[in-house]
Amino acid sequence: MTILAIPGRKADLGEGTAVRRLLPTRGKRLVGPWCFLDHYGPNEVEGRGMALGQHPHIGLQTVSWLLEGDILHRDSLGSEQIIRPGQLNLMTSGRGIAHSEESPSSHGPRLHGVQLWVALPEAARNEDPTFEHFGHMPETGFGGLKATVFMGELGEAASPAWTRSPMLGAEFSALRDGREDIPLRPGFEHAVALLSGRAAIGDQPLEIGITYLVPLGEEVLSLAMEQGARVLLLGGEPFPEPILMWWNFVCRTPEEMMAARTDWAAGRRFGSVEGTLPSVPAPILDPSTLRLRG
Ligand code: MN
Repeated sequence: MTILAIPGRKADLGEGTAVRRLLPTRGKRLVGPWCFLDHYGPNEVEGRGMALGQHPHIGLQTVSWLLEGDILHRDSLGSEQIIRPGQLNLMTSGRGIAHSEESPSSHGPRLHGVQLWVALPEAARNEDPTFEHFGHMPETGFGGLKATVFMGELGEAASPAWTRSPMLGAEFSALRDGREDIPLRPGFEHAVALLSGRAAIGDQPLEIGITYLVPLGEEVLSLAMEQGARVLLLGGEPFPEPILMWWNFVCRTPEEMMAARTDWAAGRRFGSVEGTLPSVPAPILDPSTLRLRG
């Protein structure tokens, strides 16, 4: 198996919140429909903690997954939902939604998680926005390795979350030291990220902050983990449509991008979110910098 290891880059979300940006990454914009992966923490939650004011999305699903701590989600549909480890917050933006994310007033001492985006295919990208919370996700075991499946299917476990294209999102945790053969769908490409502890694919040790790309056609992932380690596995059929990505938007043309930015600045389309956090203004957009990504 040829694994490509691509170092992520440090990104700053503001207020000194540093994250490891693992997708998009150099030479690889999407893995299946997965177009964005930030890994943050574990961090001590100081003061009021996370405070990301309302901001818009189009053309994607946000997939929120925590290993430690808690986050309060609010959106322009009126949803208000705390997410905790093992739970899934799935927000499908369709043509437009706004949301905020913050630490609850009484929050845990640490925060550790991943923020993921899934690009919506043409047939779904202009649908009505929805928000779903799942309090418990299905698990399946491979020897001492437990996989919690939050999107798609793996082994005996199938996530109840509605996906708009074929994909997999799962988190492995090692109940004891072990090496297991994890079945892969050869029609999927995959990405692996170490979230904590020690693990290896084949004889290649994994490092935190690196995206490990597993190409199409592989049928087995030989995954070794030490007790307590956590590993993220993403996959999907190669996304068939080139996309434009800028700020919080995924679309197809510069005109659509400009329209989404203009609508956010004018207070149209996205609705508004309850709460006291300030709204996040859109950055300046130079449409000549937009490049279709396949
Ligand atoms: Mn967001």
